[in-house]
Amino acid sequence: MRVLALLDGTIVDPQAPLFRADDLGVMRGDGIFETILVVDRKPRELGPHLDRLERSADLMQMRLPERDAWERAAQAVIDNWSWDTVPQMALKLVCTRGVDGGDGTPNGFAMGMQIGADTLRKRAEGVAAVTLERGYAPDLMERAPWLLLSAKTLSYAVNMAAMREAEARGADEVIFTATDGSVLEGPTSTVVIAQGRKLLTTPPSSGILKGTTQGALFRAAEKASWETEVTKFPASALFESDGVWLASSVRLVSQVHTIDGTEIKADADLHAEINHLYESNY
Ligand code: PLP
Repeated sequence: MRVLALLDGTIVDPQAPLFRADDLGVMRGDGIFETILVVDRKPRELGPHLDRLERSADLMQMRLPERDAWERAAQAVIDNWSWDTVPQMALKLVCTRGVDGGDGTPNGFAMGMQIGADTLRKRAEGVAAVTLERGYAPDLMERAPWLLLSAKTLSYAVNMAAMREAEARGADEVIFTATDGSVLEGPTSTVVIAQGRKLLTTPPSSGILKGTTQGALFRAAEKASWETEVTKFPASALFESDGVWLASSVRLVSQVHTIDGTEIKADADLHAEINHLYESNY
């Protein structure tokens, strides 16, 4: 099931062509996006997602339609979804730099999509991950802003290639490492580890996306007197921690049970507690 809205709130046929062949998003992946979970008509972390969309546009130096337009399109999709039969939706907001040689007018849409079986399985059963090199140093972002590290651009071909590499190695997911061996993020997720009653995650200044799901989890954890720390940590910490999770909007907080073929601590009660914390936000 798909529901597609334009930024003026008009609902259009999701199977009909929408973009010109010379759109820079199509030709070069020159655009940005967000994926938001909507449960029973309520979008989760909409504000942080729209903030991040704006930040990505700033990093890309591209024009972005105003916030009202995104909120209007998102609401149109929500209003036209079949909530009785499909109670959760992945809502994509996509914006490109517009057509090649044009005046820079961006093109965007909001699209509701059904959540895939593979994502539901990862939520329920947890994941086996492999560590893969991402090839940059954690201080590169500041030195080289043109690399767009930490922006959520449409150029996800490398992220998807890494996922195929994981599958070829018999795993479900990837944990990227930096050139100094520190943990970065997954291709579509934030890494969270537990050490006792403390949750840790990698800082966005290492060149990763600031996760809205991780943010929601840490917000609830702090209220429940967990300690939280945003800090760099080595890949070895993945094997020594009390738990490892991959957090993202649609997949939620998935427990990692195996890394590079080695089983790690994956306590079911701790996983239930972490999920309860995250869900307590809504
Ligand atoms: N890191 C990357 C590279 C992502 O693509 C995503 C989401 O797709 C995340 C982290 C997690 O972000 P969020 O929790 O806001 O979905």
